Amino acid sequence: MFNRVVAQDEIKKQLIALAREGHTPHALMLCGPAGCGKLAMALAYAEYLLCQHPGTDDACGECAACRQTESLAHPDLHFVFPVVRRKGGETVVSDDYMGLWRQRLAHGPYFDPEDWTSDMGGGTTAPVIYAAEAARIQRKLALKPAEGGRKVMIIWLPEKMNAECATKLLKIVEEPPQGTYFIMVCQDAANVLPTLASRTWRIQMPPLHEESIRRALALTYPPDTAEEAARRAQGSYTAALKEAAHNDTDRQNRLDFFIMLMRTAYARRIKEMKKWSQLMADAGREHQKAFLDYAQKLLRENFVYNFHLPELTNMTPDEEAFAQKFSPFINERNIVSFMDCLTDAARDIEQNANPRIVFFDLALKATVLLLR
Ligand SMILES: [Zn+2]
Repeated sequence: MFNRVVAQDEIKKQLIALAREGHTPHALMLCGPAGCGKLAMALAYAEYLLCQHPGTDDACGECAACRQTESLAHPDLHFVFPVVRRKGGETVVSDDYMGLWRQRLAHGPYFDPEDWTSDMGGGTTAPVIYAAEAARIQRKLALKPAEGGRKVMIIWLPEKMNAECATKLLKIVEEPPQGTYFIMVCQDAANVLPTLASRTWRIQMPPLHEESIRRALALTYPPDTAEEAARRAQGSYTAALKEAAHNDTDRQNRLDFFIMLMRTAYARRIKEMKKWSQLMADAGREHQKAFLDYAQKLLRENFVYNFHLPELTNMTPDEEAFAQKFSPFINERNIVSFMDCLTDAARDIEQNANPRIVFFDLALKATVLLLR
């Protein structure tokens, strides 16, 4: 559905208007930079075109057709995409990889061509839409629509079609059977065979605004992760999703190290404190500095958590679960000293002190501070 496409409201309106006025192009080509949502838009438009009760701004999402489209099982929704020729294989077409393609789409329509190549185990082999695909497309479109309505064929990355395939498709793209719609999703318009491109209605999608990306990410990720990832994504929601997932893993690791430190320090298990210092030392300087930064932030959050004012805290669910037990140990008698210890440790690391000693020292100080 269109409500799952990040931003791009102008394009959505334009596409819906074309459909409602009965002017849906028989061959549409959505172009635009990586991560702007071309495939997401193509899927949403396909659902809209196949929907039995389309509304003024989206498909109904509830009819049998919508349910089939969303589970990628609509008999009149077809996909073509570049594939990697298996070793020793002969002709190869999209159908050979359809299970894998559905799995990929089930994770969402924002991904890179490289992700798909890697799904196929392609390594450095460039995926291609081979000539054999053309005959298959013609065969599929020659059949009457199973549901007696429309047929939609999404062609992902027409620029990966070899010339033979593209040439064979010219006629059917120019004059498809009644009720048949091609939606092409193109990242590199300059490499589409010009005679094919000229037979399509082209819509150029712009890169996304940072704020749109931030808002979309904030539905899943904590506000600071969303903001940071949006800032670095340069208009690509795909890049932002990857960045956020990566940051999330880093944050989870830091939380694990923080919990380990506080538990062993509280229980005064010297052996485990030594082990922890060694793990920190092995993590490398960038991680050490990031951890000390993170520990300051989390201590502050725990201190503030005691005031029971949720609008003042900014934690992930896991951090908050820990704070429920840990925050009573952070109070006005130890918070300043704790912060000082972390600042000192960060300075020592910066000045190339032995990290094993720095972190063991920090753990020892924590044993004392936690009792205040
Ligand atoms: Zn519907």
